[in-house]
Amino acid sequence: MAEVYNWHLGRPIAYVYPETHPQKQFAAVFNINRCIGCQTCTGACKATWTFSKGQEYMWWNNVESKPYGSYPKYWDVKILQKLDEAHQAAGKTAQWDPTTGEQAPYGTYNGMTITEAAATLNIGEQALGYLPPDNEWSAPNFYEDTSTKYKGGTLGLSPEGAALPVHQTWFFYLQRICNHCTYPACAAACPRKAIYKRPEDGIVLIDQARCRGYRKCVEQCPYKKSMYRGTTNTSEKCVACYPRVEGNDPLSNGVPMETRCMAVCPGKIRMNGLVEIGEDGTWAKDLQNPLYYMIREEKVALPLYPQFGTEPNIYYIPPRWAPRPYLRQMFGPGVDDAIARYTAPSRTLLALMQLFRATQTMIFRFEIEEGPLVFETEKEGQPWQMYDDTVIGFDAKGREVVRLSVVEPLHELPQERLNSI
Ligand code: SF4
Ligand code: SF4
Repeated sequence: MAEVYNWHLGRPIAYVYPETHPQKQFAAVFNINRCIGCQTCTGACKATWTFSKGQEYMWWNNVESKPYGSYPKYWDVKILQKLDEAHQAAGKTAQWDPTTGEQAPYGTYNGMTITEAAATLNIGEQALGYLPPDNEWSAPNFYEDTSTKYKGGTLGLSPEGAALPVHQTWFFYLQRICNHCTYPACAAACPRKAIYKRPEDGIVLIDQARCRGYRKCVEQCPYKKSMYRGTTNTSEKCVACYPRVEGNDPLSNGVPMETRCMAVCPGKIRMNGLVEIGEDGTWAKDLQNPLYYMIREEKVALPLYPQFGTEPNIYYIPPRWAPRPYLRQMFGPGVDDAIARYTAPSRTLLALMQLFRATQTMIFRFEIEEGPLVFETEKEGQPWQMYDDTVIGFDAKGREVVRLSVVEPLHELPQERLNSI
């Protein structure tokens, strides 16, 4: 085992291959608070990539209703349980040291990752995992819109009513694609070395010519985002719409564009891009890159189950209304700060968030032109101001591709265009 640095966990971790890093990393932010569960992303991905025979149960993008929904069924409960059992067997606890630093933005995880647990238990695998049986792949949206049960109070809600931040009755949508992990468990598991991480953009792909369908990737990806196709005896996974990311799609105008699932989202919850990777393998500081700003500077978006240790590259703005212990288990100890920042966004963050789904073109840089103060209130007992700033997004070639104001412009139709109905 080599030692590599995992900044999500704030410490070096064990991984089968030594430290190598792409020049840029494919990444995205999903704002859970805005998702309407319409599955347009799921349908767009399916219609683009996995519509053929043998791919019937292959949902590279899926949206599950938490806490009960999951695809394949129980994926996160099962791997969390295995990790918990491994800690018990080893007499260890999975605690976070809350002291944060530049390369430990959420603190330091002192528990075992799935790779470290497999080594400690000496199970002869690269990582803890399991192969879901066929029936667990058969219902991609089981428990859709199913909430937790009422726990009393008027109409089953809390005596304070439905005020945020926490509801007694709750569910939320969790949008899932392959995380194009920095330390992919799928690649570590593959005995054929058929899975690789592209040096130019960090996208993780399966070489279909090398794959022999051993399903080790399916077994050891903790997110269960590698899927087996019986008609070809190979495994397949999300390809991050790489022709679009390369700027080779006919629509892309020669510059990187967002993936299909990101670009179609009516809820405008997704922003996709590429971040620069520094010499030491961590993200190079770039406060004008929208993803860097949200993830590293404001820490408003967090990785999914960072404790697995693969350093996933899809980040989530956690839902404001779900119980914090549940969210801390899912997104790590940065949850409370992230929700506080989202609830009372800084002037820059509020303007930046207007860029979600404003264009299909990947935004590499943003600028803000300051506008007037338009609204003042109190949030969480603190004064908060809203400004009608203008945010401008630039593509990979530095060209302006989008310009939006915080206050949506109001256009009044002239009398002769009014609808007579
Ligand atoms: S999410 Fe799973 S399939 Fe995707 S890169 Fe990470 S380990 Fe591999
Ligand atoms: S398309 Fe957007 S809003 Fe609809 S389910 Fe997907 S992520 Fe949510």
